[in-house]
Amino acid sequence: MITVDKPNERSKESLLSLVIPVYKEGSHIKSTIKVIEKVLIDNNIIYEFILVDDGSTDNTWRELKSLAKDSDRFSVLRLSRNFGKESALCAGIEYASGDMILVMDGDLQHPPELIPDMVDAWLKEGYDVVEGIKRTRGKENFIYKACAKLFYYLIYKSSDINLGRASDFKLMDRKVVEAWKELPERALFFRGMSAWLGFERKEIEFDVAERVNGKTKWSLLRLIRLAANAITSYTSVPLHCITLLGIIMFFGAAIMGVQTIFMKLSGRASDGFTTVILLQLIIGSAIMTSLGIIGIYLTKIYKEVKSRPRYLISDYIRGGDDKC
Ligand code: UDP
Ligand code: MG
Repeated sequence: MITVDKPNERSKESLLSLVIPVYKEGSHIKSTIKVIEKVLIDNNIIYEFILVDDGSTDNTWRELKSLAKDSDRFSVLRLSRNFGKESALCAGIEYASGDMILVMDGDLQHPPELIPDMVDAWLKEGYDVVEGIKRTRGKENFIYKACAKLFYYLIYKSSDINLGRASDFKLMDRKVVEAWKELPERALFFRGMSAWLGFERKEIEFDVAERVNGKTKWSLLRLIRLAANAITSYTSVPLHCITLLGIIMFFGAAIMGVQTIFMKLSGRASDGFTTVILLQLIIGSAIMTSLGIIGIYLTKIYKEVKSRPRYLISDYIRGGDDKC
């Protein structure tokens, strides 16, 4: 059973851990961090950064190391290869020691000016989760927007979790993080998992800014994979759809059966070639799709049963260490 610890004291001295997954952002990560850090310093927030290099092949790790060298407020982690944003976030959160933990992107698309408001909502209003909600989705093409809408609609309809405008810009209390860490699944979808946890939540709207530099790491294929993973993680509705499809086809078959026998007995059974071909095609594709859906769930079970670690760490440097 997952239990929640006694809430810790909230005060101005509470530590804020900022967890940022970083993948091939070497060209601008230092300046990005400086912008965020300035907001924290100006608002007298006590902070630490946990920066996770998700197996970048550019100069990201060098940049992160030099950040850790300059200040003991920086801890940097390097994953052994590119495990994906979800796993990188997970690694960072496990290393964070703050009373509250803020996750955000490393490309300034999540406005740092909002951080003081988020901290205030935690400190003064007593919320456990303060999440950034997208007012606008930023620059995306029409097809991307439509697909995102369909994806969130499917999740909402099938699992009642509304992620439509949710983002990975989120501040969580330590007890939420502890509860989150107890969730055993390997395949992660951070946004969905934190929505599933519940707790006292507050939403703060923000406009998604443009990327500072570089380009998005999400190819269409990666997005489809993430969507399939997210949907099958939160709902078994697709499996029930297969049963429903089976029932509908059964009724169709019964009607067709009666009609066929009737035609035969009344001596009017004739060609019917087109019908046979159509039925073959419909039944064939229905079976293939259904097998595919079952296959997705089966793969998920297979992966969970293997219970491999979510990520592997190849390097870890605590700020101020000589190792840097
Ligand atoms: N990211 C990561 N691993 C990946 C892909 C992305 O750690 O495999 C990080 C990336 O460095 C950034 C954040 O996740 O800090 C969001 O990525 P991106 O900006 O590419 O996504 P988008 O904003 O387009 O959704
Ligand atoms: Mg981005």
